[in-house]
Amino acid sequence: MSEPIIKTDHLVIGAGIAGLSIALKLAARGSVTIVVKNSLEESNTWYAQGGIASVLDPTDSFESHVSDTMVAGAGLCHEDIVRLVVSEGPRLVRELADFGARFDAGKDGAWHLTREGGHSHRRIIHSRDVTGRVVAEALISKVKGNQNIRILEGHTAIDLVTTDKVAPDFSQNSCLGAWFFDRALRRVIRISSSMTFLCTGGHGKLYLYTSNPDNATGDGLAIGWRAGCRVANLEFMQFHPTCLFHPKAKNFLISEAVRGEGGILKDMRGRPFMDDYHPMGSLAPRDIVARAIDTELKKTGDQHVWLDVRSLEAHRIKSSFPNIYEMCLKHGIDMTTDMIPVVPAAHYSCGGIVTDSRARTNVERLYAVGEVACTGLHGANRLASNSLLEAMVFADRAATDAAMRGDLAGLPEVDVGWTNVDQPAPDEQVVLTHSWDEIRRVMWNYVGIVRSEHRLKRALARIENIRQEVDEYWWRNRVSNEVLEVRNLAAVAWLTVRSAMSRKESRGIHFMLDWPETSSAGKDTII
Ligand SMILES: Cc1cc2nc3c(=O)[nH]c(=O)nc-3n(C[C@H](O)[C@H](O)[C@H](O)COP(=O)(O)OP(=O)(O)OC[C@H]3O[C@@H](n4cnc5c(N)ncnc54)[C@H](O)[C@@H]3O)c2cc1C
Repeated sequence: MSEPIIKTDHLVIGAGIAGLSIALKLAARGSVTIVVKNSLEESNTWYAQGGIASVLDPTDSFESHVSDTMVAGAGLCHEDIVRLVVSEGPRLVRELADFGARFDAGKDGAWHLTREGGHSHRRIIHSRDVTGRVVAEALISKVKGNQNIRILEGHTAIDLVTTDKVAPDFSQNSCLGAWFFDRALRRVIRISSSMTFLCTGGHGKLYLYTSNPDNATGDGLAIGWRAGCRVANLEFMQFHPTCLFHPKAKNFLISEAVRGEGGILKDMRGRPFMDDYHPMGSLAPRDIVARAIDTELKKTGDQHVWLDVRSLEAHRIKSSFPNIYEMCLKHGIDMTTDMIPVVPAAHYSCGGIVTDSRARTNVERLYAVGEVACTGLHGANRLASNSLLEAMVFADRAATDAAMRGDLAGLPEVDVGWTNVDQPAPDEQVVLTHSWDEIRRVMWNYVGIVRSEHRLKRALARIENIRQEVDEYWWRNRVSNEVLEVRNLAAVAWLTVRSAMSRKESRGIHFMLDWPETSSAGKDTII
């Protein structure tokens, strides 16, 4: 049975800052279809709190932003890409404001800038502590008002349609679109496109504790890899040092800006411990803070540490961090009078699908933009608030590049059906629930903040087993959202462990007990 087919010029998979920006920029050039697996409002972008790093203050400089980024990236940043991203930032921040994103202003009427860990200047433009939501709302309202953009919510991308798979005689592996699972009608559809943009975000759900929403399961990364994309630097998963520790608070992050504005980390006995680890104390780069907390927790057996902001005036806390204040209060913590219990959690993937300076992947007509991509900006560790910036810059570059390529004739017409539509409904759902849980525990325990050869070997053995079980399940059962996500998580887990095993050193956020030194030459890990 053939699946329904939609044709579009530009297929954008994912609607965070990357996907929404690309869609808006290409709508004047042809038909655009944006596809998301949940609603437009469910993305990492939506939950971003702190803001966007950019040089907007006359006393700041590109050189300084470049240097802070390179220091954080621990010798793996690609300097040409860092310079490009930093210098294009201010223009694109202004464009975002023109699209309707309202950023906070200071007393002088100019944009108010905060400072975050690792930055040597105030350069984070923000909208209170809900920057991501404000940015996403502005872009979503523009996208919804555009006649050339069709929006499909509730559709999960399954795999890309590539010539290697469906027309192997074609000269160069090219993307022809993708298959999607329509969650409401429980059927597979195919979207055929001239250009495809993977903008599916990150994969925090690979770990037991994460700041990411439930849909961050690394789908785009796994999909790209299965289609033949090169992936790089997956060992560099950034753990955010301060997620709220509370049994009922799922994935809630206490923004870096809270430390930027004076929050101090303390152990359970109330002792500020960060000065033992770094001259910048609580404002040290986040990998150092996360590792310090991990060390303190392992040393003491405590379950969390405290973040103390009580020295700030109550009205300032409430006006600067209204969202965090409300969420803490909901869980019985008044941050103006109580310390906040916090733990580290998986937050941001510095690695991803390898792209060039135009956001192209090694598969023709396929771009990867945003957290799913590895552009060379972050190296071995991302500087805070550089990710929304990176997504904006590469969305702009991808759209410009795709628009210049015009109408690319000459793609083969293919007639390919989805094969397992008629499979029976799943009979052993437990395989999926078990694998989902096991992957996340294995990754947390063996591939977490501190790693060792021994732990990684254990992780690899377990993940290979899970992959095999999920694969068997995949071929025997009808497609479902659950199997898609677990299949992708298992693939990303495997890639991450393989990446981590091949790095015989400690660098940036990859810390190996057996290889504590950083080698003199930095090299990307490419699979
Ligand atoms: C709590 C939190 C706070 C953060 N704060 C900041 C900050 O202050 N500053 C900063 O720079 N960065 C921050 N980050 C990181 C930043 O938000 C992300 O890196 C960025 O938003 C990623 O944007 P994106 O467009 O690449 O992906 P996302 O915004 O994650 O969007 C991904 C999209 O892909 C869709 N999708 C995924 N899989 C599929 C599939 N199989 N089929 C169809 N659609 C799919 C999703 O539904 C979603 O629409 C934060 C992240 C979190 C989680």
